[in-house]
Amino acid sequence: MNDRKISDKQRIVIKLGTSTLAHKTGKLNIRRMTNLVRVISDLHNSGRDIIIVSSGAQGLGSGKLGLREKPKDIRMKQAVAAIGQCELMHIYDNMFEKYSITVAQILLTKMIINNPNHCANFKNTIESLMGLGVIPIVNENDAIAIDELELEIGENDSLSALVAQLAGADLLLILSDIDGLYSDDPRSNPDAERIMVVDEITPEIERIAGGAGTSLGTGGMTTKISAAKIATEAGIDMVIMNGRDPEKLYDLFEDKEIGTIFRANKK
Ligand code: GLU
Repeated sequence: MNDRKISDKQRIVIKLGTSTLAHKTGKLNIRRMTNLVRVISDLHNSGRDIIIVSSGAQGLGSGKLGLREKPKDIRMKQAVAAIGQCELMHIYDNMFEKYSITVAQILLTKMIINNPNHCANFKNTIESLMGLGVIPIVNENDAIAIDELELEIGENDSLSALVAQLAGADLLLILSDIDGLYSDDPRSNPDAERIMVVDEITPEIERIAGGAGTSLGTGGMTTKISAAKIATEAGIDMVIMNGRDPEKLYDLFEDKEIGTIFRANKK
């Protein structure tokens, strides 16, 4: 039996991090984005339900204002996120339009996720959008949620796992700037090997994930393991793979050995 079967997945949440969407300068990676939107559109056209969880609001907002780096001050962060979220959706809308695909924006906060009524509304909206053949693009509502009141989820790895759970997805796909989970940090240990399948998130898995980080994103590998816990406990398989070459998504959906798969807990 193939224990990495992806080809039959039907509802997929794809998490795109800043390290995938932007250059190290913080400016949009146009080639990457163009290729990603093309391949995701093709997956959508093949009959799969796609939901995107996209970062980039703060990065693009800072870029639009000509700031050299993301602001540290909370109020400025929120302002920059409000500006960048608009820019982010403008870019997605234009790029998906080329393939006649409509996108929709949903912004979440921790408060919404913790509130059963709001959650029900979120699920209903997702179902309606899926029925309409629309790709929802979800982000945290940073203009509201970055504050001291603990309203924020803070990073989009966990957010994407929560979205996958609420949306009834059967696969969470996290695109990052690393090929998967390695037995050690591949940047410092050339003998580090990519782990193909994780059946259980053991303390050993958490330990090796603790050492590896990605350069630009908010989370690094630790938050991806938190996401994997949420997803697998909810019965959802999760894959971490490199977003550098979007064509590899075709290989993944042909059940080739791409990235690391965290297999759902069997209930
Ligand atoms: N919500 C943040 C943004 O759009 C990103 C959080 C993350 O990268 O995990 O800038």
